[in-house]
Parts: sequence; structure tokens; C-alpha cells
Amino acid sequence: MTDFTRLCIHTMTTKPWSLRETIDGYVRAGVPGITVWRQHVEPVGAEEAGRMLRESELKVVSLCRGGFFPGVTHAKRQLAIEDNKRAIDEAQAIGAPLVVLVCGAVPGMVLGEARKQILDGIAAVLDHAKQAQVKLGIEPLHPMYADSRSAVNTLEQANNMVSALQSPWVGVTVDVYHLWWDPFLQSEIKRAGKTIFSFHVCDWRTPTRDLLNDRGLMGEGCIKIPLIRKWVEEAGFNGPVEVEIFSDEYWATDQVEYVEKIKAAYLKHC
Ligand code: ZN
Repeated sequence: MTDFTRLCIHTMTTKPWSLRETIDGYVRAGVPGITVWRQHVEPVGAEEAGRMLRESELKVVSLCRGGFFPGVTHAKRQLAIEDNKRAIDEAQAIGAPLVVLVCGAVPGMVLGEARKQILDGIAAVLDHAKQAQVKLGIEPLHPMYADSRSAVNTLEQANNMVSALQSPWVGVTVDVYHLWWDPFLQSEIKRAGKTIFSFHVCDWRTPTRDLLNDRGLMGEGCIKIPLIRKWVEEAGFNGPVEVEIFSDEYWATDQVEYVEKIKAAYLKHC
């Protein structure tokens, strides 16, 4: 069966392409969904990006990424809040129903303090999200990024934040790369239930040669993606399967051929 109806690819996966090239490449390949990263919006602006995306009829799944709330000074935290409001506005302009949050961390800051600042930051943008009708997905990141990218490292922590915030506009993003190792993943996915707003896939290579840019194509690593997908679907999630791969290796290859490899891996290993 070659059913690509739930396939979505992140613009960062095909990073060498401009937004124009990405849209054309995905449409040509029959990829129906796109998650847009802000750096691909920036060169053309959100209004123009929105026009291009609407014309393409691609389904815009989310905007990546907001977050990075913690800061050592009040002024820095305020800047982050303003930037997240802009991200929400950009999402609205491009027709994205969701902003994914990489919550942030500051090297040296006690993680508990960073988590408190994250919670306060999300709370500060909730009204803005509601007005824009844009949801926020808290994406826990693998603990190897706890120093500088996110103090939210397990789905339990993200679920606790969702519980504390008590808003239909906040949920979680489950990314297999960040969460596959977690002994409580299945039960926390079940607990998240309908607050699972999005689902990201790629694979964990052994060895992983770079902490950021050596993610594998699905099937190249050790993650049991179909099992985790089954859990999120049993929890009630029926949205797109988003391929998010940061890879210096694949970025150096022909992106048209790469998208075909992604389609094949999606059919076989997701
Ligand atoms: Zn992700």
C-alpha cells in the first residue's frame, strides 16, 4: 500500500531548500503535509509564505519553533515572551494551527528554576495563542540537550505542565528521537491522550556521531517507531506523522532523491 495521506515533512529535514523549493519539491513528490521552520519563513516574510502555502494546497501542520523561555534577567525573559507572540502571529499568517515549543534552558541555571520560568513563559502567551486560535505543543527534548535547549526532557514533565496550565490551547508534541528511551513513555502517552498535538519521527543512530545533526532516516536506527506510533494512536492521536531529520549527511545529498528515500522509509518503518 502506498498511502501517504498522513505524511508530513519538516522544512528543516530538507534544509538546503528555500521555502519555494520545499513547497515545489513536496508537491511534486506527493507529500501532503508540511511543518514550516521559522528560518524558512524569514527570507520571504510570513504574509508571503502564507500566500505561497495556501496556493500550494499543502496542509500546514505546524510552525517550528517557539519556546526558549528561560533567561537570567527579567528583560531576557520578556524578550522571549514577545518572540513567542510573534511566532504565534506567524503561525496564524501561514495557516499553521500549532506552534511547537522547544522550551529552552540556560547553561548553569538550576533546571527547576528553568522549568518554573518555562511554565511562567507559556502562561504569559496563552491569551495571545487563544486569540490567534493557534495551539502550543510542549516538545520534551532528549536529556542530552538539558544544558542549553530544553529543561523539559520527559513526557511526564510536559504532561505535568499541561495539567498545571489547564488550557485547551496547550498540549504536547511526542518526538520519538527525544523520548524512545523513557521507561514511562507508554503510560505517559496514555496519560497525554487527546493533548497529543503532534508526532515527530526519525531514528537514533548507533553510534550517533553528532549530538544535533546526525539523526537517522526511519529504519536506520534502534527506535521502534511503529510501536510508539501505535501507542499515540491508541491514546487518540490520528494526525500527521512528521518526518523531522537533522542530518549533515543527508543535507549534503540531492534533496529530490532524499525525499523519495523518506517516502520509502515512511512506508516501511513508521
Ligand atoms: Zn521534534
